[in-house]
Amino acid sequence: MKRILVTGGAGFVGSHLCEYLLNQGNEVICLDNYFTGKKQKIVHLMENPWFEIIRHDVTMPYYIEVDEIYNLACPASPIHYQYNPIKTIKTSVMGAINMLGLAKRIKGKILQASTSEVYGNPEEHPQPEGYWGNVNPIGVRSCYDEGKRCAESLFVNYHQQNDVKIKIVRIFNTYGPKMEPNDGRVVSNFIVQALQNKDITIFGDGKQTRSFQYVSDLVEGMVRMMETGDDFTGPVNIGNPGEFTMLELAHEILDITGSKSKIVYQPLPEDDPVQRQPDISLARKKLNNWEPVVPLRVGLEKTIDYFEHLLSSEKIS
Ligand code: NAD
Ligand code: UDP
Ligand code: UDP
Repeated sequence: MKRILVTGGAGFVGSHLCEYLLNQGNEVICLDNYFTGKKQKIVHLMENPWFEIIRHDVTMPYYIEVDEIYNLACPASPIHYQYNPIKTIKTSVMGAINMLGLAKRIKGKILQASTSEVYGNPEEHPQPEGYWGNVNPIGVRSCYDEGKRCAESLFVNYHQQNDVKIKIVRIFNTYGPKMEPNDGRVVSNFIVQALQNKDITIFGDGKQTRSFQYVSDLVEGMVRMMETGDDFTGPVNIGNPGEFTMLELAHEILDITGSKSKIVYQPLPEDDPVQRQPDISLARKKLNNWEPVVPLRVGLEKTIDYFEHLLSSEKIS
């Protein structure tokens, strides 16, 4: 049994990760400041005596004795990370420094939840880990993109200078149950709109692409990454190479839900990447033949089920 700290554990991905690690027989400590996370996502885990919840902000130092740290604390949806951009950078940068300081002191392993956003609006397609990215350093997305890039640099430098055992995963767009209905991400927006027969809001012409990964595939990849030998630090892409336009996504969701919603077009947000698709050759090779196993249609059906229940139990306008 390992004792594992999950920062951002009350968020969408973090809550699934906490559950998975507990089910594997570990002791799990979830640290979160509830900026975008919710107790409802983890409260069912409280029945397990090996689960603990701590309200704390990663920008402040934190002392605890654990074996491993998964550092997920950071808002991930554009509307949330742009709400207080300075706080977003502080969370990525100061959060990384504190958690790396912790890993250094306890001589533990630490995994950073980085992002495909480090590639910005990519000029290389699909994106391998060796691609350095095309990020606007002063644009609206820079608080997130540059914060995550700086965190990667801190991880690599703590590894080289202080021998900290690091792991970096670059996560591509992920969806699934426990996403927030109003956090502005495309999958949750389209599903909620379809279920409520409201207009489906496509930003731009809908021809931009994303590659959507179901959350259980991501969690499996992260845990396999943590289990690799100390000589493999990453970064490694974790995503589903299946690439879809936003129009295709909208039609798939309309088809599954049988919704009467109409598609409407709204302006494309600033610096919105045109295309994104992971090259997962490295993950396949290093993570014990890991690859995503949940096809988009199946993952969407499970996510739609989740939102149907949520919308019938909560009043969401
Ligand atoms: P989320 O917003 O649901 O979860 C983030 C969690 O971090 C929330 O529970 C939030 O309350 C917590 N948090 C934020 N700031 C904090 C702070 N200062 N101190 C402590 N806790 C704080 O987002 P998510 O989708 O679950 O993303 C989890 C991680 O994965 C993030 O680091 C994100 O950048 C990364 N990621 C996610 C995706 C995706 O598609 N979901 C893609 C790439 C990377
Ligand atoms: N830190 C922490 N928990 C620990 C150890 C360190 O939060 O268990 C913080 C510490 O407050 C410091 C940061 O991590 O601000 C970086 O630690 P490091 O040892 O690298 O830096 P130093 O303490 O030498 O400034
Ligand atoms: N998007 C959209 N309609 C929405 C929300 C998002 O067309 O209601 C688009 C958005 O402009 C982007 C894509 O969907 O091109 C993915 O957006 P999301 O915020 O989910 O992820 P990210 O842009 O961070 O990859």
